[in-house]
Amino acid sequence: MRRIHHYVAGKELPGTSGRFGPVFDPATGVQQAEVAFASAAEVDRAVAAAVGAAASWRDSALGKRADVLFRFRQLLVARRADLAAAITSEHGKVPSDAAGEVARGIENVEFAAGVPQLLKGGYSEGVSAGVDVYSIRQPLGVVAAITPFNFPAMVPLWMVANAIACGNAVVLKPSEKDPSASVLLARWLEEAGLPPGVLNVVHGDRGAVDRLLEHPSIAAVSFVGSTPVARSIYQRGTAVGKRVQALGGAKNHMVVLPDADLDAAADAAVSAAYGSAGERCMAISVVVAVGAIGDRLVDAIAARLPKVAIGPGRDPAAEMGPLITAEHRDKVAGYLGAAEAEGATVVVDGRTRRFEGSGFFLGVSLVDRVTRTMSVYRDEIFGPVLAVVRAASYPEALEIVNGNPYGNGAAIFTRDGGAARQFQREVTCGMVGVNVPIPVPVAYYSFGGWKDSLFGDTHIYGPDGIHFYTRGKVVTSRWPDPATSAIDLGFPQTR
Ligand code: NAD
Repeated sequence: MRRIHHYVAGKELPGTSGRFGPVFDPATGVQQAEVAFASAAEVDRAVAAAVGAAASWRDSALGKRADVLFRFRQLLVARRADLAAAITSEHGKVPSDAAGEVARGIENVEFAAGVPQLLKGGYSEGVSAGVDVYSIRQPLGVVAAITPFNFPAMVPLWMVANAIACGNAVVLKPSEKDPSASVLLARWLEEAGLPPGVLNVVHGDRGAVDRLLEHPSIAAVSFVGSTPVARSIYQRGTAVGKRVQALGGAKNHMVVLPDADLDAAADAAVSAAYGSAGERCMAISVVVAVGAIGDRLVDAIAARLPKVAIGPGRDPAAEMGPLITAEHRDKVAGYLGAAEAEGATVVVDGRTRRFEGSGFFLGVSLVDRVTRTMSVYRDEIFGPVLAVVRAASYPEALEIVNGNPYGNGAAIFTRDGGAARQFQREVTCGMVGVNVPIPVPVAYYSFGGWKDSLFGDTHIYGPDGIHFYTRGKVVTSRWPDPATSAIDLGFPQTR
């Protein structure tokens, strides 16, 4: 069985813990590799490599750091198909979704390459006689990045690009389900000129994360994953004095007002609910249909579903791939039975769709007449299941969205600008779409939710990323009037 090793100080580090995890090809259901799970000692080696590299990287010129990122960006552009193929192989998402992920990741590298501009501080001249005050931002040292399975290249790039641009060294612990993209990124960054040890990759599960959380040399932790783990990482990391940003799960609602463009709303719901098999933290998982549009909207979505082409990434016609594991596929399917038992109407049942082979496929499902007490509404399903909740009015729809404990993204579909404006003001979530179902901010804004979708006060990437990976320092300096110098410098004594 092929083994995926750690990558530390510019070299592969074979795992010695004796613990490994399976890496599947989700489209065939066949295990294609095993990934080493790091022991505490192996995590310590990676942290030591990062500590060793951090001091000189911190002292490197801003222009040199930008240069590495520019060259890395060029490598990513030239090799985007290879990276997308690695993503499809281990995650299962179809090539168009994988290419989209790579493109969004590259945006973050482009943003980070502007670091000489981004790290500019403020300056106040003459706050008092001869006294100036200025602010600077400095790197934290060594930071940990812990990432989920669903965006195996983009989420690491959300963190790594800004962290290294700011002069930090990084220990990245990617998802054990699709670990190879992270190793490729580390290798290519070094090819672009990043000194060995500035970015290290350790694989593993909870054991590796626990060691990173308790390691005294880790100054900060960026985490993206499910809410229970995010909450625990935030609590444990901050309890030992680390800076932590922990992004959690989601249940994103799309409110459709009665005046919305029906076809545009139905198309948006289909692509946002079932793209990447619903395994996106910004996927739409609940449509809130307001008033009279409900029946027509459900019919319009249902009519589109037989056309969603489901298949392996090697099939160029496939629009949706398999789920990440057999267990996850079965768990997602279980919500359909529960929804029926709880009184919802399963309009399209993905369980009835048959697939050849042993891949982790599941058809797309649409569940209508969902209420807030049902498990299909309450839980983050993270699969190709779209729930429709009916609301009589805008206030009722808003109450539903804001009553949900998650607060990642929300969208409104309407032709009324005033209604959209009111929604963007009143909705309690971090990212809002107006006639846009998946409002992932471009890289020069920051990404993050509210409530149970984010623990900490700092969103990820963009300006918040620069802020997170640096700490502020304010210098107050006094220089006496040069005319008073003990040595005559030629300044007239007029002041
Ligand atoms: P996960 O929480 O199971 O795993 C995330 C990371 O934490 C992985 O590296 C994993 O190895 C590690 N981990 C798992 N259990 C742990 C534990 N008990 N202690 C310490 N570390 C642990 O998440 P996942 O299944 O890989 O990813 C899907 C989840 O991520 C979904 O909930 C999705 O909404 C969320 N997500 C959120 C965002 C966002 O920006 N808010 C983005 C992508 C994914």
